[in-house]
Amino acid sequence: MSALTTREKLAILSDAAKYDASCATSRAPKRNSLKSSGLGSTQAMGICHSYAPDGRCISLLKILLTNFCIYDCRYCINRSSSNVARARFSIDEVVRLTMEFYKRNYVEGLFLSSGVIRSPDETMGELVEVARRLRVEEKFNGYIHLKTIPECDAGLVELAGQYADRLSINVELPTDEGVLRLAPEKRPATIRKSMATLRMKMEEKSEPTLRTGKRQRFAPGGQSTQMIIGADATADAGILKTSARLYGSYHLRRVYYSAFSPIPDASSSLPLVKPPLMREHRLYQADWLMRFYGFAENEILDGQPEGMLDLAIDPKLAWSLRHRAAFPVDVNRADRESLLRVPGLGAKAVKRILETRRHRRLRLEDVGRICQSIAKVRPFIVAEGWQPGKLTDTVDLREKIVNSCEQLSLF
Ligand code: SF4
Repeated sequence: MSALTTREKLAILSDAAKYDASCATSRAPKRNSLKSSGLGSTQAMGICHSYAPDGRCISLLKILLTNFCIYDCRYCINRSSSNVARARFSIDEVVRLTMEFYKRNYVEGLFLSSGVIRSPDETMGELVEVARRLRVEEKFNGYIHLKTIPECDAGLVELAGQYADRLSINVELPTDEGVLRLAPEKRPATIRKSMATLRMKMEEKSEPTLRTGKRQRFAPGGQSTQMIIGADATADAGILKTSARLYGSYHLRRVYYSAFSPIPDASSSLPLVKPPLMREHRLYQADWLMRFYGFAENEILDGQPEGMLDLAIDPKLAWSLRHRAAFPVDVNRADRESLLRVPGLGAKAVKRILETRRHRRLRLEDVGRICQSIAKVRPFIVAEGWQPGKLTDTVDLREKIVNSCEQLSLF
């Protein structure tokens, strides 16, 4: 077999990295300068968009070091028994590609993951060496996100944290049973231990040292994880429970949900069809409710049959329709926590309501100017000159809101 060119490796290893949801790919329309006389391209291989810790959207070179892997996780296209084209970058190649893409302004950072080659320590050692060379030898100041191999030595994780902005360890599946059944070489306890070690290191390094009085740099973007949904039968309630535990125990910045995609020659233990993408979207919305809206994980789905999120409406609206006794909420008097529970009022809208009402009382029209859909908000609030009356309790309220939101989306 002839040796692959860097371009061929890039095609294979950027495609293999697309299953990692830690960075969301841009939905910009495809343009390719190779096929036109123009300048610039939105579909260059391996480039995806992500959000930096300060909220900026940045483009990343998203690749695997290699898609060879000694493990055989059933849901993974790169598993050892998979019949896919394989490639492996050298450390030099990844460093050179990152620097060249960076200098040409194609990317602002690197997202690097890898299949496990020979041993977890050897693989992690190579990932760390890429980051070290970029930072120390190339003086690269862009963003670096490294995937961490849970079974590797803690010393390598410590080194990775010195060079990377963010580290992530994939929890893989929502339950331990799922991991043991579909990723038999992985140990859920080891994954948790690695996350705990990372959390401890982050806390330790965030304290100023006695000698210099300065904090040491260690993965300032924190740690995140990815969970595959729909590969096993875990309901959304179970997924949210796992996420709540991960946020609470390991102080994760983000849990990413990745809808399982059926892969060629898949194991018979996997479903034949992928879950609806809307399920992934609803899980992100529910996750948002836990992190920014004060919802406990077990509240979001209380009273919801089979513990599944409603795909037709967002989780906050679904919760509000099941808890109508908590409404209407007076926008001129209610506290922040109660306002955050009103469907259609986001954190920014609530902030503006609280600021505005210091000076004057809000009318329904004022709330309409602040929020995105007054049709969704109206049945759940009281405002100056507005009382929803029996609207909050009408039997067909759900249909009315869904219909008015659908009509709005037409325009
Ligand atoms: S260890 Fe990672 S790359 Fe290897 S088979 Fe499992 S999920 Fe895929």
